[in-house]
Amino acid sequence: MTDPHQILRNVFGFNDFRGVQAEVVGRVLAGEHTLAVMPTGAGKSLCYQLPALARAGTALVVSPLIALMHDQIRSAEALGIRAASLTSADSDRAEVERRFRAGELDLLYVAPERANTPGFQRLVSGARLALIAIDEAHCVSEWGHDFRPDYRQLRGLLDRFRDVPRLALTATADQRTREDILDQLGIPAEGLIVAGFDRPNIRYSIRPRDQVGAQLKGLLATVPGPGIVYAPSRDKAERIAEGIAGSGRPARAYHAGLEPQVRQRNQADFVASEEMVMAATVAFGMGIDKPDVRLVAHAGIPKSIESYYQETGRAGRDGDPAEAVLFWSASDFANARRRIETEVPAERQAGERERLNALAALVETAGCRRAVLLRHFGETPPETCGNCDNCLEPPQTIDVTEVARKLLSAAFRTEMRFGVGHLTAVLGGDDNEKVRGFGHDRLSVFGICSPDELALLKPVSRHLIAADALRADAYGGLSFGPGAKAILKGEKDVRIAVPPPRQRRRRGSSEA
Ligand code: ADP
Ligand code: ZN
Repeated sequence: MTDPHQILRNVFGFNDFRGVQAEVVGRVLAGEHTLAVMPTGAGKSLCYQLPALARAGTALVVSPLIALMHDQIRSAEALGIRAASLTSADSDRAEVERRFRAGELDLLYVAPERANTPGFQRLVSGARLALIAIDEAHCVSEWGHDFRPDYRQLRGLLDRFRDVPRLALTATADQRTREDILDQLGIPAEGLIVAGFDRPNIRYSIRPRDQVGAQLKGLLATVPGPGIVYAPSRDKAERIAEGIAGSGRPARAYHAGLEPQVRQRNQADFVASEEMVMAATVAFGMGIDKPDVRLVAHAGIPKSIESYYQETGRAGRDGDPAEAVLFWSASDFANARRRIETEVPAERQAGERERLNALAALVETAGCRRAVLLRHFGETPPETCGNCDNCLEPPQTIDVTEVARKLLSAAFRTEMRFGVGHLTAVLGGDDNEKVRGFGHDRLSVFGICSPDELALLKPVSRHLIAADALRADAYGGLSFGPGAKAILKGEKDVRIAVPPPRQRRRRGSSEA
């Protein structure tokens, strides 16, 4: 076996391993099964590419995305590593199989669907494998945010090669998902290696959304370098790109609905530019090597904390200061909850709901954002980081328990089908036609809120929706979520952040 440090220097051109790489590579070289949880940019590929060269035989790399495989193969070949893939997009499959059989490949990339076919099993049976790498290993877990049943079936292949070290890799796995991956892939608990998740140069800010176009414009005026704006739909990505371009800043759109050539050109333009903004759906970002992204903004909530971390992690890969700004609205959470109920199979709803609640807690916290993020990934960070919105400008919080209880009571008394507008009218004693028509002027909650309390109803409802104490239907009608009872019974206080005065003044002056 060749000396790993020598390979590191001679093939990869690096002087030292970074972070946990040495530990991960050491285990693989020793033939041990390993799960490496390493944030994006931490250098996962090297963890299997180097042992592929140091050990006899070919390394199998299971990877879910053809585009990702082809990127990896290009950069491996640039280093002189012999790599190929067997996918529907490869017309030279017969030649690749020949090279594999002849022992002329260091790396063979394959999608899980193909890895599980009898044809592939025949190809590899009796072959000498250096290791089996399972990239994006969170796909094996139903708790993960991107479950793929084909990953589950990999166990058969793995167990046919019991003596070949397995290396599962993922950037995004909470505690539960990690345990599941270990279990599903037959990796012992001591094989779990977790890299530090903190990205100290990224400043996290999370703000309510009102006019997102104007908000983005204001933000971009303060961040001149390359930026990515994640939009919740293709349509919005296009509109945001147009809006930004209209204000004089070069901008492009990127989403799966664009022609491949257009997508590639936009991506190439963005990678080459020092000021361009890419307005994109989450289809954008994987496998893109642009270290100088200064801003990642979200025009709506991401799917989960894992997605948020991964998407914001594309900022500041060069280590220089970068911004991550999320604009959110209560309707984002209401829509996400509805999507879970209508589109997610019953057995996975609880997990999805839990993930959404974790995201809501990040959005709603008046404490340090980084601390919430890092705790989510199993770390024990300090209470404050000094580089997030809440640490830099601690929000004042106010106790709104009483208002929350009045709002919940009003929702209950009106049979939990009206929106915050109507409930405000009822609580404010507004004697309008709709209120009278439903007989809501005769309810005990009619007119029980003071003007000060009425002004708080919107932010309080937003908070309660994010915390799943209230749920909004497609028309904004509010009903109880699981968190409602504890508040009504007085077991739980409700506090919300009031926007810091500076922010309010800035908003006021920009309107003038
Ligand atoms: P990941 O897959 O974890 O997101 P990559 O494997 O793409 O990360 O690596 C991210 C970047 O870090 C690449 O540009 C890679 O060349 C670089 N890199 C990896 N390992 C090292 C190292 N030991 N020293 C310096 N740079 C490294
Ligand atoms: Zn902080």
